[in-house]
Amino acid sequence: MNLDVNTLFLVTIYVEAMLGLLLLFAWVQNANIMAVAWWGSAHLLRAASVVIFGMWGSVPELISIDLANAILFTAFAITWTGARVFDGRTASPVGILAGAAVWLILCRTDFVADSMEARVLISSGIITSYTWLTAYEFWQGRREPLVSRWPAIFMLFAHGALFLLRTPLSQLLPWSPNSQVFDSVWLTVLSFEALLFTIAIAFILLAMAKERTELRHKTAALVDPLTGIANRRAFLEGGAQLACRVDAHPRAASILVIDLDHFKSINDRFGHALGDRVLQVFAETATSNIGPFDLVGRLGGEEFAAVLYDAGKEKGLATAERIRAAFAEVASEVDGRLVSATVSIGVAVSQDGPLDVPAMLALADQALYQAKERGRNRVEIASLDLVLRLDSTTPSLRIPNMSAKSAA
Ligand code: GH3
Ligand code: MG
Ligand code: MG
Repeated sequence: MNLDVNTLFLVTIYVEAMLGLLLLFAWVQNANIMAVAWWGSAHLLRAASVVIFGMWGSVPELISIDLANAILFTAFAITWTGARVFDGRTASPVGILAGAAVWLILCRTDFVADSMEARVLISSGIITSYTWLTAYEFWQGRREPLVSRWPAIFMLFAHGALFLLRTPLSQLLPWSPNSQVFDSVWLTVLSFEALLFTIAIAFILLAMAKERTELRHKTAALVDPLTGIANRRAFLEGGAQLACRVDAHPRAASILVIDLDHFKSINDRFGHALGDRVLQVFAETATSNIGPFDLVGRLGGEEFAAVLYDAGKEKGLATAERIRAAFAEVASEVDGRLVSATVSIGVAVSQDGPLDVPAMLALADQALYQAKERGRNRVEIASLDLVLRLDSTTPSLRIPNMSAKSAA
């Protein structure tokens, strides 16, 4: 098959410009993700470089080759910068200009100016470097669970590899060293691949930006913004999932309901902002004192809950006591103020029967009430007596803090 390079050039210019404008349009609609603006600009720059490259023969090579390539490398540098910005890193002006600068300087040397192969090698090296750097930036941000991150990394890596290999590969495939630039089979193959790549990568970058926006909305709906732990809704959903797990593999489970002691007076004495800090300190303490399969959430206000998987009475009480003691220690002084914050904890244990999280929360809440009555800064477990009493009043079972203002 023989593809006409001029046609490919025209199609490439059109497609690059269209994708650039589309990305910029997407960015205007959701200006939060600045990277999309960088990526859109990269496509427009690439369109400009192909326009100038297409003028080969009618303008000096200084423009049609040297300048066109310098713009092309800057476009790849800008795509790389978009990836940095996407994952919260800063743009590097030196990095953006480095490729173009290296190219323009090397083009002034006699050896490079006279050697087509050297120029191909240098330009491939620069494009591969930026493309692999872009893949590396996305790889570095892999902790953010975006599915589209992986095809982006793969495609960037493959595209970079193709550019790097084009010199050795060109020795193997029909290629006449004497032919003009526009006659080379390799230019056709690379231009066609570059066109497909640019369409695919624009699509994937846009998908990444969209996926991130969706992920952030989802997170905002499930995470308590002050403490970063599960909010009431996420906690109850997580509890229901854990209950399914207990159904499948019967295990004991403990539920803790935790309330900060005299929190109103902490707010009154030290101010609401320090009160907020105390809530954050508690969330950190609780999170670092539970197991990987356990769940902690903020039910609302200064009330928290935890579900501990595979934790019978002994383990449930020990964990509650560990949280209580650890918090009393770290919260004795918060931000240099002698706050002496403590918590009271109510524990309810389900042996190996089905786990009814709302009913257990109600039981643990009763135990918490006793802990408050018995002097605070202590752990109480729901007694059999409480279970029986609650059984006889089941219709009025209450999930703790139902009326408290929502944490989310
Ligand atoms: P007890 O030991 O009986 O639990 O007393 P308490 O003062 O902790 O309980 P109370 O229910 O009287 O007060 C809870 C306080 O928690 C009142 C409310 O202003 C405060 N609070 C609720 N949510 C927040 C919050 O997000 N930040 C701060 N700083 N305070 C909050
Ligand atoms: Mg309280
Ligand atoms: Mg309370």
